[in-house]
Amino acid sequence: MPISPLEELQRADERTLRFLPGGLGLGMKLRPEKAAEYQQEVAGRFTLDERVAEGTRSSYERLRTVFAYGVLCYEIYTLVGDHALLVIEQALRDRFVDFHGGTVTLVDDTGAEHQVAVAGYNDLHTFLRTHRQPRRRRPWRLRLPTGAAMTFRDGMLHDLRAWARQVGLLRGQRNRGIERAMVELRNLVAHPGGYQVYGPVEAAQTLHDLAEIINQLWGAPTPGGRLYPAPTRREVVVMAWPADGSKRITVTADALADAVDPDDQPWQCVVLRAVFRPDEHFADPGLRYFDSRAEVTTYPADLLWGPGTIADAAAWYTQHKPQPDHVDHLDRTFMIRHYDNHLYLPVQPQHAAALRRQHRTGNWYAIRADHPGDAYHHVRSIVTSAGCQPHGQCQNCHTETLQVGPHHTVTAGIRADAVLPPDVATPWALPRARRVSV
Ligand SMILES: [Zn+2]
Repeated sequence: MPISPLEELQRADERTLRFLPGGLGLGMKLRPEKAAEYQQEVAGRFTLDERVAEGTRSSYERLRTVFAYGVLCYEIYTLVGDHALLVIEQALRDRFVDFHGGTVTLVDDTGAEHQVAVAGYNDLHTFLRTHRQPRRRRPWRLRLPTGAAMTFRDGMLHDLRAWARQVGLLRGQRNRGIERAMVELRNLVAHPGGYQVYGPVEAAQTLHDLAEIINQLWGAPTPGGRLYPAPTRREVVVMAWPADGSKRITVTADALADAVDPDDQPWQCVVLRAVFRPDEHFADPGLRYFDSRAEVTTYPADLLWGPGTIADAAAWYTQHKPQPDHVDHLDRTFMIRHYDNHLYLPVQPQHAAALRRQHRTGNWYAIRADHPGDAYHHVRSIVTSAGCQPHGQCQNCHTETLQVGPHHTVTAGIRADAVLPPDVATPWALPRARRVSV
Protein backbone atom coordinates (compact mmCIF):
# COMPACT_ATOMS: atom_id res chain seq x y z
CA MET A 1 0.00 0.00 0.00
CA PRO A 2 1.45 3.40 -0.96
CA ILE A 3 2.17 5.73 1.96
CA SER A 4 0.44 9.14 1.82
CA PRO A 5 1.99 12.12 3.59
CA LEU A 6 -0.06 13.69 6.42
CA GLU A 7 -0.68 16.76 4.29
CA GLU A 8 -2.48 14.65 1.72
CA LEU A 9 -4.58 12.85 4.35
CA GLN A 10 -5.70 16.24 5.62
CA ARG A 11 -6.84 17.40 2.20
CA ALA A 12 -10.60 17.51 1.56
CA ASP A 13 -12.03 14.74 -0.63
CA GLU A 14 -13.28 16.33 -3.85
CA ARG A 15 -16.22 13.89 -4.00
CA THR A 16 -17.66 15.08 -0.70
CA LEU A 17 -17.36 18.75 -1.64
CA ARG A 18 -19.83 18.26 -4.46
CA PHE A 19 -22.67 17.54 -2.01
CA LEU A 20 -24.41 20.85 -1.40
CA PRO A 21 -27.30 21.52 1.00
CA GLY A 22 -29.72 21.44 -1.97
CA GLY A 23 -28.33 18.20 -3.46
CA LEU A 24 -25.50 17.21 -5.76
CA GLY A 25 -23.88 20.32 -7.24
CA LEU A 26 -23.58 20.27 -11.02
CA GLY A 27 -20.19 21.84 -11.66
CA MET A 28 -20.29 23.45 -8.21
CA LYS A 29 -18.72 22.48 -4.94
CA LEU A 30 -18.41 23.71 -1.36
CA ARG A 31 -15.25 25.10 0.14
CA PRO A 32 -13.69 22.47 2.47
CA GLU A 33 -14.45 24.55 5.61
CA LYS A 34 -18.07 24.93 4.55
CA ALA A 35 -18.43 21.25 3.66
CA ALA A 36 -17.05 20.23 7.08
CA GLU A 37 -19.55 22.50 8.79
CA TYR A 38 -22.45 21.36 6.64
CA GLN A 39 -21.83 17.61 7.06
CA GLN A 40 -21.57 18.00 10.83
CA GLU A 41 -24.84 19.90 10.85
CA VAL A 42 -26.46 17.02 8.96
CA ALA A 43 -25.24 14.42 11.47
CA GLY A 44 -26.27 16.66 14.36
CA ARG A 45 -29.95 16.53 13.36
CA PHE A 46 -30.53 13.03 14.67
CA THR A 47 -30.41 12.65 18.43
CA LEU A 48 -31.18 9.81 20.80
CA ASP A 49 -33.78 9.72 23.54
CA GLU A 50 -32.36 10.22 27.02
CA ARG A 51 -33.52 6.74 28.11
CA VAL A 52 -31.22 4.95 25.62
CA ALA A 53 -28.55 2.80 27.31
CA GLU A 54 -25.05 4.24 27.60
CA GLY A 55 -23.29 1.59 25.50
CA THR A 56 -25.63 2.04 22.55
CA ARG A 57 -25.41 5.79 22.90
CA SER A 58 -21.60 5.74 22.80
CA SER A 59 -21.56 3.58 19.68
CA TYR A 60 -24.02 5.86 17.96
CA GLU A 61 -22.05 8.97 18.89
CA ARG A 62 -18.90 7.32 17.54
CA LEU A 63 -20.63 6.85 14.19
CA ARG A 64 -21.66 10.50 14.13
CA THR A 65 -18.12 11.56 14.96
CA VAL A 66 -16.64 9.43 12.18
CA PHE A 67 -19.27 10.72 9.74
CA ALA A 68 -17.73 14.20 10.00
CA TYR A 69 -14.43 12.85 8.59
CA GLY A 70 -16.14 11.98 5.33
CA VAL A 71 -15.05 15.42 4.23
CA LEU A 72 -11.48 14.09 4.13
CA CYS A 73 -12.22 10.52 3.08
CA TYR A 74 -15.30 9.61 1.05
CA GLU A 75 -15.00 5.88 1.93
CA ILE A 76 -15.99 6.79 5.50
CA TYR A 77 -19.61 6.95 4.36
CA THR A 78 -19.66 3.29 3.32
CA LEU A 79 -18.07 2.33 6.65
CA VAL A 80 -20.76 4.27 8.52
CA GLY A 81 -23.45 2.40 6.59
CA ASP A 82 -21.92 -1.00 7.31
CA HIS A 83 -21.17 -0.31 10.95
CA ALA A 84 -24.73 0.86 11.58
CA LEU A 85 -25.82 -2.81 11.35
CA LEU A 86 -23.58 -3.68 14.27
CA VAL A 87 -24.96 -0.81 16.31
CA ILE A 88 -28.48 -2.11 15.73
CA GLU A 89 -27.47 -5.44 17.24
CA GLN A 90 -25.86 -3.70 20.18
CA ALA A 91 -29.01 -1.62 20.72
CA LEU A 92 -31.14 -4.78 20.73
CA ARG A 93 -28.81 -6.44 23.26
CA ASP A 94 -28.75 -3.41 25.55
CA ARG A 95 -32.51 -3.05 25.34
CA PHE A 96 -32.96 -6.75 26.08
CA VAL A 97 -30.93 -6.45 29.29
CA ASP A 98 -32.82 -3.28 30.30
CA PHE A 99 -36.15 -4.86 29.53
CA HIS A 100 -35.61 -7.98 31.61
CA GLY A 101 -34.25 -6.06 34.59
CA GLY A 102 -31.27 -8.31 35.26
CA THR A 103 -33.01 -11.70 35.28
CA VAL A 104 -33.98 -13.77 32.26
CA THR A 105 -36.21 -16.82 32.55
CA LEU A 106 -35.37 -19.62 30.12
CA VAL A 107 -37.47 -22.75 29.68
CA ASP A 108 -35.73 -26.02 28.81
CA ASP A 109 -37.15 -28.87 26.74
CA THR A 110 -38.67 -30.55 29.80
CA GLY A 111 -40.60 -27.36 30.60
CA ALA A 112 -38.45 -26.51 33.65
CA GLU A 113 -37.58 -22.86 34.18
CA HIS A 114 -34.07 -21.52 34.72
CA GLN A 115 -33.46 -18.05 36.14
CA VAL A 116 -30.36 -16.54 34.59
CA ALA A 117 -28.79 -13.44 36.15
CA VAL A 118 -27.87 -11.11 33.29
CA ALA A 119 -25.82 -8.01 34.10
CA GLY A 120 -24.77 -7.71 30.46
CA TYR A 121 -25.89 -9.56 27.35
CA ASN A 122 -22.72 -11.65 27.27
CA ASP A 123 -23.92 -13.38 30.46
CA LEU A 124 -26.88 -14.77 28.52
CA HIS A 125 -24.63 -15.80 25.64
CA THR A 126 -22.34 -17.62 28.03
CA PHE A 127 -25.27 -19.42 29.63
CA LEU A 128 -26.67 -20.55 26.27
CA ARG A 129 -23.24 -21.77 25.17
CA THR A 130 -22.43 -23.64 28.33
CA HIS A 131 -25.88 -25.05 29.11
CA ARG A 132 -26.79 -27.21 26.16
CA GLN A 133 -30.25 -28.70 26.23
CA PRO A 134 -29.96 -32.21 27.70
CA ARG A 135 -31.98 -33.88 25.00
CA ARG A 136 -30.93 -31.42 22.30
CA ARG A 137 -34.22 -31.85 20.54
CA ARG A 138 -35.72 -28.46 21.14
CA PRO A 139 -34.05 -25.10 21.61
CA TRP A 140 -34.36 -22.98 24.72
CA ARG A 141 -37.45 -20.88 25.09
CA LEU A 142 -37.61 -17.43 26.62
CA ARG A 143 -40.40 -16.60 29.07
CA LEU A 144 -42.06 -13.28 28.19
CA PRO A 145 -43.86 -10.93 30.60
CA THR A 146 -47.18 -12.09 29.09
CA GLY A 147 -46.44 -15.63 30.32
CA ALA A 148 -45.93 -16.93 26.79
CA ALA A 149 -42.61 -18.51 25.81
CA MET A 150 -40.80 -17.88 22.52
CA THR A 151 -38.06 -19.93 20.87
CA PHE A 152 -34.64 -18.51 21.71
CA ARG A 153 -31.95 -20.49 19.92
CA ASP A 154 -28.59 -18.82 20.31
CA GLY A 155 -29.34 -15.23 21.27
CA MET A 156 -28.10 -13.89 17.95
CA LEU A 157 -29.64 -11.09 15.91
CA HIS A 158 -32.47 -13.22 14.55
CA ASP A 159 -33.62 -14.09 18.10
CA LEU A 160 -33.31 -10.51 19.25
CA ARG A 161 -35.37 -9.15 16.39
CA ALA A 162 -38.08 -11.75 16.95
CA TRP A 163 -38.02 -10.89 20.66
CA ALA A 164 -38.38 -7.13 20.02
CA ARG A 165 -41.40 -7.89 17.83
CA GLN A 166 -42.95 -10.29 20.32
CA VAL A 167 -42.78 -7.84 23.20
CA GLY A 168 -44.06 -4.99 21.02
CA LEU A 169 -40.94 -2.81 20.97
CA LEU A 170 -40.86 -2.75 17.17
CA ARG A 171 -44.01 -1.99 15.20
CA GLY A 172 -45.39 -1.44 11.72
CA GLN A 173 -46.06 -4.06 9.08
CA ARG A 174 -43.89 -2.51 6.38
CA ASN A 175 -41.08 -2.27 8.93
CA ARG A 176 -41.10 -6.06 9.32
CA GLY A 177 -39.59 -6.32 5.86
CA ILE A 178 -36.99 -3.68 6.63
CA GLU A 179 -36.04 -5.36 9.89
CA ARG A 180 -35.75 -8.71 8.13
CA ALA A 181 -33.41 -7.14 5.60
CA MET A 182 -31.24 -5.83 8.41
CA VAL A 183 -30.97 -9.25 9.97
CA GLU A 184 -29.90 -10.63 6.63
CA LEU A 185 -27.12 -8.04 6.72
CA ARG A 186 -28.40 -6.28 3.71
CA ASN A 187 -28.44 -2.52 3.59
CA LEU A 188 -30.22 -0.92 6.47
CA VAL A 189 -32.69 0.98 4.36
CA ALA A 190 -33.35 -1.96 2.02
CA HIS A 191 -32.09 -0.26 -1.10
CA PRO A 192 -32.40 -2.72 -3.94
CA GLY A 193 -29.14 -4.10 -5.20
CA GLY A 194 -27.64 -5.14 -1.89
CA TYR A 195 -24.14 -3.97 -1.05
CA GLN A 196 -23.18 -0.63 -2.46
CA VAL A 197 -20.89 2.31 -1.93
CA TYR A 198 -22.52 4.91 0.28
CA GLY A 199 -22.26 8.64 -0.25
CA PRO A 200 -22.99 11.30 2.36
CA VAL A 201 -26.72 11.32 1.58
CA GLU A 202 -27.15 7.56 2.09
CA ALA A 203 -24.94 7.57 5.16
CA ALA A 204 -26.94 10.43 6.69
CA GLN A 205 -30.14 8.53 5.92
CA THR A 206 -28.67 5.48 7.63
CA LEU A 207 -27.80 7.52 10.72
CA HIS A 208 -31.32 8.87 10.73
CA ASP A 209 -32.88 5.40 10.40
CA LEU A 210 -30.56 4.06 13.08
CA ALA A 211 -31.62 6.83 15.47
CA GLU A 212 -35.27 6.01 14.72
CA ILE A 213 -34.75 2.31 15.44
CA ILE A 214 -32.85 2.92 18.67
CA ASN A 215 -35.36 5.49 19.91
CA GLN A 216 -38.26 3.19 19.06
CA LEU A 217 -36.65 0.36 21.04
CA TRP A 218 -36.63 2.65 24.10
CA GLY A 219 -40.24 3.65 23.51
CA ALA A 220 -39.70 6.98 21.78
CA PRO A 221 -41.23 7.11 18.29
CA THR A 222 -39.86 9.85 16.01
CA PRO A 223 -42.01 12.91 15.17
CA GLY A 224 -42.30 12.92 11.38
CA GLY A 225 -40.27 9.68 11.27
CA ARG A 226 -39.85 7.52 8.21
CA LEU A 227 -39.85 4.11 9.93
CA TYR A 228 -41.38 4.47 13.40
CA PRO A 229 -43.20 7.80 13.34
CA ALA A 230 -44.85 9.36 16.37
CA PRO A 231 -48.63 9.73 16.04
CA THR A 232 -49.49 12.13 13.24
CA ARG A 233 -51.51 15.29 13.83
CA ARG A 234 -54.94 15.42 12.20
CA GLU A 235 -56.62 18.75 11.53
CA VAL A 236 -60.30 19.51 11.33
CA VAL A 237 -60.76 19.83 7.59
CA VAL A 238 -63.59 20.94 5.35
CA MET A 239 -64.00 19.42 1.93
CA ALA A 240 -66.64 20.70 -0.49
CA TRP A 241 -67.57 20.02 -4.10
CA PRO A 242 -70.34 21.03 -6.49
CA ALA A 243 -72.92 18.44 -7.51
CA ASP A 244 -71.27 17.97 -10.92
CA GLY A 245 -67.93 17.13 -9.27
CA SER A 246 -66.14 19.64 -11.48
CA LYS A 247 -63.97 20.94 -8.63
CA ARG A 248 -63.03 20.35 -5.01
CA ILE A 249 -62.11 22.70 -2.21
CA THR A 250 -60.19 21.47 0.82
CA VAL A 251 -59.36 23.87 3.66
CA THR A 252 -58.79 23.73 7.39
CA ALA A 253 -62.05 24.35 9.22
CA ASP A 254 -61.05 27.72 10.65
CA ALA A 255 -61.60 29.08 7.13
CA LEU A 256 -65.31 28.27 7.51
CA ALA A 257 -65.98 31.51 9.39
CA ASP A 258 -66.17 33.54 6.18
CA ALA A 259 -67.47 30.77 3.90
CA VAL A 260 -70.74 31.03 1.95
CA ASP A 261 -72.37 28.61 -0.47
CA PRO A 262 -71.72 29.52 -4.10
CA ASP A 263 -74.83 30.54 -6.07
CA ASP A 264 -74.19 28.55 -9.23
CA GLN A 265 -75.26 25.05 -8.08
CA PRO A 266 -75.75 23.07 -4.84
CA TRP A 267 -72.50 22.08 -3.11
CA GLN A 268 -71.87 19.14 -0.82
CA CYS A 269 -69.74 19.77 2.21
CA VAL A 270 -68.23 17.50 4.87
CA VAL A 271 -66.16 18.19 7.99
CA LEU A 272 -63.44 15.60 8.60
CA ARG A 273 -60.54 14.90 10.88
CA ALA A 274 -57.70 14.16 8.51
CA VAL A 275 -54.01 14.76 7.83
CA PHE A 276 -53.92 18.05 5.93
CA ARG A 277 -51.23 20.68 6.42
CA PRO A 278 -51.27 23.24 3.60
CA ASP A 279 -48.59 25.36 5.29
CA GLU A 280 -46.23 22.38 5.01
CA HIS A 281 -47.48 21.44 1.52
CA PHE A 282 -48.49 18.10 2.94
CA ALA A 283 -51.83 16.34 2.72
CA ASP A 284 -53.12 12.79 2.82
CA PRO A 285 -52.79 11.65 -0.81
CA GLY A 286 -56.01 9.63 -0.52
CA LEU A 287 -58.20 12.44 0.79
CA ARG A 288 -59.96 13.13 -2.51
CA TYR A 289 -61.27 9.54 -2.53
CA PHE A 290 -62.80 9.96 0.94
CA ASP A 291 -65.63 7.54 1.68
CA SER A 292 -67.20 7.63 5.15
CA ARG A 293 -67.78 3.86 5.08
CA ALA A 294 -64.56 2.62 3.50
CA GLU A 295 -60.86 3.00 4.30
CA VAL A 296 -58.99 4.51 1.37
CA THR A 297 -56.83 7.23 2.88
CA THR A 298 -53.17 6.84 3.84
CA TYR A 299 -53.86 8.12 7.36
CA PRO A 300 -57.12 7.51 9.25
CA ALA A 301 -59.74 10.09 8.20
CA ASP A 302 -63.04 10.34 10.07
CA LEU A 303 -66.28 12.08 9.22
CA LEU A 304 -67.23 14.60 11.93
CA TRP A 305 -70.20 16.22 10.21
CA GLY A 306 -72.08 16.09 6.93
CA PRO A 307 -72.94 15.97 4.22
CA GLY A 308 -74.70 19.32 4.07
CA THR A 309 -74.34 22.87 2.88
CA ILE A 310 -71.29 25.00 3.57
CA ALA A 311 -73.43 27.40 5.64
CA ASP A 312 -74.67 24.56 7.85
CA ALA A 313 -71.12 23.23 8.24
CA ALA A 314 -70.00 26.68 9.38
CA ALA A 315 -72.85 26.86 11.94
CA TRP A 316 -72.03 23.38 13.25
CA TYR A 317 -68.32 24.14 13.49
CA THR A 318 -68.91 27.39 15.40
CA GLN A 319 -71.10 25.58 17.89
CA HIS A 320 -68.98 22.44 18.42
CA LYS A 321 -65.43 23.64 17.77
CA PRO A 322 -63.89 20.14 17.27
CA GLN A 323 -60.15 20.04 17.91
CA PRO A 324 -57.21 18.44 16.08
CA ASP A 325 -55.93 15.13 17.40
CA HIS A 326 -53.07 12.67 16.80
CA VAL A 327 -53.32 9.19 15.31
CA ASP A 328 -50.97 6.27 14.85
CA HIS A 329 -51.33 4.94 11.32
CA LEU A 330 -49.17 1.83 11.73
CA ASP A 331 -50.61 -1.61 12.55
CA ARG A 332 -54.23 -0.68 11.92
CA THR A 333 -56.93 -3.34 11.64
CA PHE A 334 -59.05 -3.45 8.50
CA MET A 335 -62.07 -5.63 7.77
CA ILE A 336 -62.55 -6.90 4.24
CA ARG A 337 -65.58 -8.73 2.89
CA HIS A 338 -65.47 -11.30 0.10
CA TYR A 339 -68.91 -12.19 -1.17
CA ASP A 340 -70.36 -13.47 -4.44
CA ASN A 341 -67.06 -13.04 -6.32
CA HIS A 342 -66.81 -9.46 -5.16
CA LEU A 343 -64.15 -8.01 -2.92
CA TYR A 344 -65.17 -4.98 -0.86
CA LEU A 345 -63.04 -2.03 0.16
CA PRO A 346 -61.53 -2.26 3.68
CA VAL A 347 -63.65 -0.87 6.52
CA GLN A 348 -62.92 0.04 10.11
CA PRO A 349 -63.73 -2.77 12.58
CA GLN A 350 -66.41 -0.65 14.33
CA HIS A 351 -68.07 0.11 11.02
CA ALA A 352 -68.00 -3.55 10.02
CA ALA A 353 -69.64 -4.49 13.33
CA ALA A 354 -72.42 -1.95 12.76
CA LEU A 355 -73.36 -3.08 9.23
CA ARG A 356 -76.93 -4.09 8.49
CA ARG A 357 -77.61 -7.80 8.28
CA GLN A 358 -77.79 -7.91 4.46
CA HIS A 359 -74.27 -6.44 4.24
CA ARG A 360 -72.71 -9.06 6.50
CA THR A 361 -72.89 -12.13 4.28
CA GLY A 362 -69.81 -13.78 2.83
CA ASN A 363 -66.33 -14.43 4.15
CA TRP A 364 -64.61 -11.74 6.19
CA TYR A 365 -60.92 -11.03 6.74
CA ALA A 366 -59.49 -9.06 9.67
CA ILE A 367 -56.13 -7.77 8.47
CA ARG A 368 -53.41 -5.82 10.26
CA ALA A 369 -51.66 -3.40 7.92
CA ASP A 370 -50.17 0.11 7.77
CA HIS A 371 -52.28 1.13 4.75
CA PRO A 372 -55.73 0.00 3.58
CA GLY A 373 -54.31 -0.69 0.13
CA ASP A 374 -51.88 -3.24 1.60
CA ALA A 375 -54.78 -5.04 3.32
CA TYR A 376 -56.91 -5.03 0.17
CA HIS A 377 -54.16 -6.37 -2.12
CA HIS A 378 -53.31 -9.06 0.42
CA VAL A 379 -56.89 -10.38 0.54
CA ARG A 380 -57.22 -10.15 -3.24
CA SER A 381 -54.06 -12.21 -3.49
CA ILE A 382 -55.51 -14.81 -1.11
CA VAL A 383 -58.86 -15.17 -2.88
CA THR A 384 -57.22 -15.32 -6.32
CA SER A 385 -54.47 -17.69 -5.07
CA ALA A 386 -51.78 -15.25 -6.13
CA GLY A 387 -49.28 -16.08 -3.39
CA CYS A 388 -50.35 -14.49 -0.10
CA GLN A 389 -50.94 -16.71 2.94
CA PRO A 390 -54.33 -16.68 4.70
CA HIS A 391 -52.87 -17.15 8.21
CA GLY A 392 -50.61 -15.05 10.38
CA GLN A 393 -47.83 -12.80 9.14
CA CYS A 394 -47.71 -12.83 5.36
CA GLN A 395 -44.32 -13.64 3.87
CA ASN A 396 -45.45 -12.20 0.55
CA CYS A 397 -46.48 -8.69 1.63
CA HIS A 398 -46.65 -6.28 4.57
CA THR A 399 -49.72 -7.58 6.38
CA GLU A 400 -50.86 -10.00 9.04
CA THR A 401 -54.11 -11.95 8.82
CA LEU A 402 -55.73 -11.81 12.24
CA GLN A 403 -58.88 -13.74 11.48
CA VAL A 404 -60.90 -15.22 8.63
CA GLY A 405 -64.52 -16.34 8.81
CA PRO A 406 -68.14 -15.25 8.85
CA HIS A 407 -69.03 -11.74 10.01
CA HIS A 408 -69.97 -12.68 13.57
CA THR A 409 -66.61 -14.41 14.07
CA VAL A 410 -64.35 -11.59 12.89
CA THR A 411 -66.35 -8.87 14.63
CA ALA A 412 -66.65 -10.72 17.95
CA GLY A 413 -65.32 -8.53 20.73
CA ILE A 414 -66.06 -5.22 19.01
CA ARG A 415 -68.28 -2.88 21.02
CA ALA A 416 -71.93 -3.70 20.49
CA ASP A 417 -72.95 -0.04 20.39
CA ALA A 418 -70.87 0.70 17.27
CA VAL A 419 -72.74 2.87 14.76
CA LEU A 420 -72.22 3.57 11.09
CA PRO A 421 -71.43 7.14 10.10
CA PRO A 422 -73.74 8.91 7.62
CA ASP A 423 -73.16 7.54 4.14
CA VAL A 424 -71.16 10.03 2.09
CA ALA A 425 -68.43 9.72 -0.51
CA THR A 426 -66.74 12.22 -2.80
CA PRO A 427 -67.48 12.08 -6.55
CA TRP A 428 -63.98 10.58 -6.98
CA ALA A 429 -64.47 7.78 -4.45
CA LEU A 430 -63.53 4.25 -5.49
CA PRO A 431 -66.23 1.62 -6.15
CA ARG A 432 -66.94 -0.11 -2.83
CA ALA A 433 -66.91 -3.57 -4.39
CA ARG A 434 -64.94 -4.99 -7.28
CA ARG A 435 -65.41 -8.26 -9.07
CA VAL A 436 -62.54 -10.71 -8.60
CA SER A 437 -62.08 -13.84 -10.66
CA VAL A 438 -61.29 -16.74 -8.38
ZN1 LIG B 1 -49.89 -10.96 1.73
